[in-house]
Amino acid sequence: MFSMFDFCTRRLGLSEGEAFRRLAAARLVRRLPVLLDAIASGQIHLSSLVLLRDVLTESNVDEIVAAASGKTKREVEQLVARMAPKPDVEGSIRKLPDRRPSSSTTSSQAPTPSRVPPSQLQAIAERRYKVQLTANEVLRDKLELARALMSHQNPSGDLAIIVERAVELLIEKLSKEKLGTTSRTRRSKPSAKHGYVTRAARREAFERDGMQCSFVGANGERCPARSFLELDHVTPRALGGSGEAENLRVLCRAHNGDAAERVFGRAHVEARIRTFRKRSTRRPRSQRTVRRTAQRFPAQVQRRESSHLYGVDVARR
Ligand SMILES: [Zn+2]
Repeated sequence: MFSMFDFCTRRLGLSEGEAFRRLAAARLVRRLPVLLDAIASGQIHLSSLVLLRDVLTESNVDEIVAAASGKTKREVEQLVARMAPKPDVEGSIRKLPDRRPSSSTTSSQAPTPSRVPPSQLQAIAERRYKVQLTANEVLRDKLELARALMSHQNPSGDLAIIVERAVELLIEKLSKEKLGTTSRTRRSKPSAKHGYVTRAARREAFERDGMQCSFVGANGERCPARSFLELDHVTPRALGGSGEAENLRVLCRAHNGDAAERVFGRAHVEARIRTFRKRSTRRPRSQRTVRRTAQRFPAQVQRRESSHLYGVDVARR
């Protein structure tokens, strides 16, 4: 049978995702013709329509199109979750089917890496999320061990409670490292004069700027980045800038790179990045090393590749 989907992908050359979105939109327009204008005017995207397809009715179509207009995919997902809340999922660890290399794989061929379903964080109702990830055996064992160790505080063995506590501890530890909070006192303080950033200065700068890039664009908007944050010397260390908090600012990696480029020039910054990359690629095993190991120790690598994977679902309260 030659389906409409086949026609779109084979004859029209659309990607499977695009074909799916267009067909879903076409079906919706047949049911709710008013949507055609909203699509044509760019008021609503096809990907938003696909998400909304089960909650749209004749009586709410105008209201929903207005609410979803200009929203990101994630915001539309939340809108749907509010309108059609799903019940909580139960935290679970279940074994995924084995993805062993097929028996025809000879020892001279490196096994193909396992395809793992992507991690997900999905809104299922107002302020409720389903978290889904694939774990290797090590993480599975750690989760089970934590569950056993927490059994008194968490008698039902709820995974969400375990993950929440684990993440709390991680955030506490990482913020301590980032902000330089410590219970120990240093015996000798290195001088901030030579640009050295003390823990106290680091903490002061992060407390002042917050855990967000402090770059403000020409339009007056502050960069929203909250990850890969770095401390930048306003007057560079090489030009005699001190490591005091007044001379420090929190920048994301991109803006820190920009600032360095303005001061030292692109060539210098690129050379520094190359040196850094050379240094940092030494640690993880390169693809070539992995291939070579696969050729020399096929059985060992095969065992690793077929190590069991687990799907972990967590209901977040
Ligand atoms: Zn930034």
